Parts: sequence; structure tokens; C-alpha cells
Amino acid sequence: MKKRLLVIVLACIMFAACSRQDLTESSSTSEDNQIQISEDGMSATRDFFAMDTYMTVTAYGDNAEQAVDESVDFVITIENLISTNIDTSEVAVLNKSGENTVSEDTAYLIERSLELNISTNEAFDITIYPIVKAWGFTTGEYQVPKQEQITELLQKVGSDQLQFNIDDNSVTFQQVGMEIDLGGIAKGYASTKIMDIFRQYGITSGIVNLGGNVQVYGTKSNGKEWNVAVQYPKSTTDYLGVLKVADKAVITSGGYERYFEKDGKIYWHIMDPSTGYPADSGLVSVTIISSDGTYADVLSTALFVMGKEKAIEYWGEHKEEFDMVLLDEEDKLIMTGGIADDFSTDLECQIIE
Ligand code: AMP
Ligand code: MG
Repeated sequence: MKKRLLVIVLACIMFAACSRQDLTESSSTSEDNQIQISEDGMSATRDFFAMDTYMTVTAYGDNAEQAVDESVDFVITIENLISTNIDTSEVAVLNKSGENTVSEDTAYLIERSLELNISTNEAFDITIYPIVKAWGFTTGEYQVPKQEQITELLQKVGSDQLQFNIDDNSVTFQQVGMEIDLGGIAKGYASTKIMDIFRQYGITSGIVNLGGNVQVYGTKSNGKEWNVAVQYPKSTTDYLGVLKVADKAVITSGGYERYFEKDGKIYWHIMDPSTGYPADSGLVSVTIISSDGTYADVLSTALFVMGKEKAIEYWGEHKEEFDMVLLDEEDKLIMTGGIADDFSTDLECQIIE
């Protein structure tokens, strides 16, 4: 049973890493928006495509179906608020006009992003969007921009140039051409809010996988911890290890999620705001384990940018709030003591306390 669940979660993670184009190729196996309900009505699962990735929500309990439906609706609501590809979204309007007054959800995401921009020493920066666009990650028309273009665009990057008014949720860019992207935080926020929905519906056990961002509610229905497999960046059929968790988000950022190759060099979608180039910190994947999915999502991106030493330093200052698993280019794993007993791996591993 344990093994079967592991395979299911692993499959979800790997599946989730595919792009929209992959959806078309494998659409015969995808049951977009289909809900599966158990015969006794005590569990429900829904697979769907949102925020440019595959997602699955599963809940156990009397109100499983309603909880899953409301969770899916919530994800779609957030997507409609923050997607840079939906012209009417609050973020798209802000990016176009340089100002907007936004909903509570968008305001929370912006406020948290600004707070964490400071705490991560600017490694996480939602104003990185003009750079992400220049590299072609928004359209799939990948290119290595000229240094002059990067230098020019970097002038429009900097969260200190974004004015957010907490009293009326108004947002103003202080420079023409600025744009934001909440893609590095929104999925973690959505999974954490789904935990609230599960709570409201009296769900006894649940798991969500939003494009490889996993968050679990309680334990499995048999009372044991969930097994969450963490993907191995160099292979789509292997995994780094398996983590036993309850009531936690397990969120991974890796270069393998979205990248292109040019002249033998790989360029991925996580950018270093200090250079305007894909982060080249020596890390190839960062997994954050925390009960706060929003925080875990931001940190997976930020610590990937920071690199090993700074990530360990950051953890040292916030060790009550999260655990982490880092993988470097030499296939060396580093994990924090809080999860050492719960993470099984075959790789060489250093534990930090
Ligand atoms: P994640 O997969 O959570 O690591 O988020 C990556 C996404 O966040 C990218 O696709 C970009 O849209 C955006 N992004 C890339 N680099 C950064 C950064 N340094 N800070 C904030 N967002 C970023
Ligand atoms: Mg993230």
C-alpha cells in the first residue's frame, strides 16, 4: 500500500513538470477536470490543468466532493487574478497600466513577496518579469538576450520601486516598463489556502499536487504519514528521495522544470535578479518543507538563487520555520536535521543542525 501511494505521488510530480505542449501530446491520458469519487462518497480526486501545469486535489471525509470542487474553483480564481497571460487579470492590468487596486488575495501575495524580497536579500523578486520575458520563458520562444538588453532591463527590476499601499490595496510602479510575476509564490499560496478549505469541510485527510508543489493535510487515511517523492533533476524516472510528512508543504524548485539549451549550455527559468541571468549558484534543486506553503514556494526559488552557503546561512536564521533538502551540481545532498529521520535517499548526504 505504502509503495503504491509513493508511486502515485511520484507520478504526479513528474507529470506536473511537463509543459502545456506536453499536455497536447499526452492528452489521451489526461482527464482534465474529471472528478473521481469513491463508491462510499468518502473520498474525491480531481485532476485539472491550471497556472500552466497539471494539478491534482484529493480529499477524504464526508464532504470530500464539495471540498475538492471548492479547492479547484479557488485555484482557478487565483489564476484569473494573477495570471500574466489573462488580459483581464489584476496583475496583467497592473503590468499594462503601471497601477491598479487589487483584491485581498493579490494584495496578500504582493505584500508577502515584498516582505520576503527583503528577508532573502532580494534573491526573490517579483519585479523580475521583464527579464523572464526577455529570455523567452513566457512564450517558449527562447533566446539568450544581449548583455546591453539585460543591463537596460535590470533598471526596471527592483521591488523597492513598487509602491504598495496596505490601506487600500493599491499598487503603483515607480518606473515605466516595470512588470511583476507572482509565478514563484502563487501555487504555494493556493495549496495552503486549500488546507483551510479542507478544514472548513471537516476533511480528515488530503493531498494536493499543484505542478510538483505538494501539500498534505493530516496523515493518510490509514493514519500513517504521506510519502512524498522528490524528483531527481537529471532523470524523469528517478527520484532524489522520499519524505514522510504530515500537515506540511513540500515544494521544490529545480532548473529541470523549464529550460532550454543553446550552444551546449542550459538556461533555466529561475533568474538571479542581481545579474539578469538564470541563477548559476551551483544548486540544481531546492526542496523546502514547511507548514506555510506560501513561504515554502518563495524560499524554494530564493534559496535556489542564493546557492548553498547563503541558503544554509538563511536556514540558520529561520530554522524554526522550515526544513530543506538541497542538491548541488556534484550530486551531493544537504538536508536539515529536522527531516533527517523522515527522508530516505540513496545519495551521499550531509545533515546540518
Ligand atoms: P518556482 O518554480 O516556484 O521556482 O518559480 C519560478 C517562476 O518564478 C519562474 O517561472 C518565474 O516566473 C518566476 N521567477 C524566476 N526567478 C525569480 C526570482 N528570482 N524571484 C521571483 N520570481 C522568479
Ligand atoms: Mg517558488
